[in-house]
Amino acid sequence: MAVPAAIRRVVVARDEYRCAYCQTSEDNCGLAMHLDHIVPEVAGGGNEIENLCLACFNCNVSKGAQQNAVDPETGENAALFHPVQQRWADHFGWSRDGTHIIGRTPVGRATVSALKMNNPTVVFARRRWVDAGWHPPT
Ligand SMILES: [Zn+2]
Repeated sequence: MAVPAAIRRVVVARDEYRCAYCQTSEDNCGLAMHLDHIVPEVAGGGNEIENLCLACFNCNVSKGAQQNAVDPETGENAALFHPVQQRWADHFGWSRDGTHIIGRTPVGRATVSALKMNNPTVVFARRRWVDAGWHPPT
């Protein structure tokens, strides 16, 4: 079901025009973020503000209807990051050069892997954003 425009405006303001997963900003990529259902609609997730976040095309499409993924460090299944209920900095950090997202917890590592948050295309773009002084976000 389509998300009402008033709810979209609230989510956009809360997430500050950034992907709630990989932190890519609309300003840097030049594309409007998608609205992601954190609990997917096929799993019963609705259009409540608490179940919506902004997501870039890559994170949104890579996530699909997944709610869990394998933590590549342990091989165990882990829940994906929940951008409304969890804090990004508790589960992720930036590599020293600012181009890669480092998963710090099982949730973080599983999410980085499942959402392909360090795919070569975005890493290339992040390198340019770092050079320009636009990244990583503070
Ligand atoms: Zn993203």
